[in-house]
Amino acid sequence: MRDVIVLGAGMAGVAAALHLQRRGWSVALVDRGEPGRETSFGNAGIIQAEAVEPYPMPRDIASLLKVATGRGNDVRYDLLALPGHVGSLLRYWWHSAPARHRTVSAAYAGVIARSTADHQELMTAAGVPDDLVRRDGFRELHRSVALLDADTVLAERLRTEFGVGYRRLSPAELAAAEPGLKATGAGALHWLDSWTVRDPGALVAAYADLFEREGGTLLRGDAATLAAEPGGGFRLRTADGPLAASAVVVALGPWSPELLRRFGYRVPMVRKRGYHRHYKVTGRGLDLPLRDSDFGYVAAPMTTGLRITTGAEFAGAEAPPKPIQLGRAEAALRGLVDLGEPVETVPWLGTRPCMPDMLPVIGQAPRHPGLWLHFGHGHQGFTLGPATGRLLAEMMTGETPVVDPAPFAPARWCR
Ligand SMILES: Cc1cc2nc3c(=O)[nH]c(=O)nc-3n(C[C@H](O)[C@H](O)[C@H](O)COP(=O)(O)OP(=O)(O)OC[C@H]3O[C@@H](n4cnc5c(N)ncnc54)[C@H](O)[C@@H]3O)c2cc1C
Repeated sequence: MRDVIVLGAGMAGVAAALHLQRRGWSVALVDRGEPGRETSFGNAGIIQAEAVEPYPMPRDIASLLKVATGRGNDVRYDLLALPGHVGSLLRYWWHSAPARHRTVSAAYAGVIARSTADHQELMTAAGVPDDLVRRDGFRELHRSVALLDADTVLAERLRTEFGVGYRRLSPAELAAAEPGLKATGAGALHWLDSWTVRDPGALVAAYADLFEREGGTLLRGDAATLAAEPGGGFRLRTADGPLAASAVVVALGPWSPELLRRFGYRVPMVRKRGYHRHYKVTGRGLDLPLRDSDFGYVAAPMTTGLRITTGAEFAGAEAPPKPIQLGRAEAALRGLVDLGEPVETVPWLGTRPCMPDMLPVIGQAPRHPGLWLHFGHGHQGFTLGPATGRLLAEMMTGETPVVDPAPFAPARWCR
């Protein structure tokens, strides 16, 4: 039996571990904490079937000026931290050119198309409770008709090219669908095919339970203790003692480049920080998650309260939290729904692990046979984990992959 250590028990690692185990591998899944307590815990919980095109960097002068002058709330940056981001941001900018973005999107759409079906397979096997997941989409509020018109044109193109389902809602239709809203602006787009999860960390934990029930081993350990054996294979220290395997999967999300540096790879990652905080709802709240397109945040009904998740923040690697975007988002949301006190005393902070070409890294490390990589899922790792985990397991097992793996090859960024 082939054996593998999967490092990282976020959505990417747990899903890869399950798919490998189901193909006959003996799998040890190792994390320094509990499964699904980091980035896969803190997100907006949307399984984004509509996200067939990854988010490019804006290239028009008006959008860039809006970011540069701090007028928008989608993106914020600390001026002093920018030099540390500039290399990966320039590459991101280059890959965001329309023709390159079209090529990237063709590959991305292939895995996004599998996302809900591949989640469903794991949800059924895990016995995920019905009230954890909704299959009714989410909505995107627009305050200006011009912006809603522009986004409707985009939505129509996504429907034509990729079959993405959406409906444009008038202010009256939005008010009927969300009676808790105090303002409905110009209306909304309702993305119909996406699913929403009321506790993202609980879904990862349910998949991790399934992994154990199906015979997998879940261990505590520090990935930094990973070492290559001179004759091939790898060893790792865990809380339960040393572990050895012929293969390793690195699924450490935003921490992946740190480990790979130890193996001689410098991986440029676009590190987009994001915050969340839950609020008590005093009125009717929201039925489905709502993205406020003018203020760049998502308000998602969760088990713990109404969760606001923010857009991207570029700060120093270890910079303390500065939840400026969260403050603006909270003020905007208070104009839309009756919101009570925050649930937590301090907001949650995490990092989206984005690659400069917006595609995750899936495949074998260029110079280390047996070292497999599964990270860099950016804005949609919660969505993509099961689909890309399947792709990785197929490649490792020598099966015909469900989609062409070439665009995801590690050699793009692991040099
Ligand atoms: C604010 C915000 C909102 C988002 N909203 C969405 C959304 O709605 N939909 C969507 O699809 N995606 C969303 N995302 C993106 C998504 O959350 C991530 O892409 C995804 O969670 C990444 O999963 P992962 O398994 O790669 O990383 P993680 O979930 O971070 O898992 C990495 C694991 O590695 C472990 N680890 C790290 N270092 C070590 C070490 N040295 N030793 C052992 N273990 C270690 C960590 O403990 C962790 O469990 C959002 C992200 C943010 C920040």
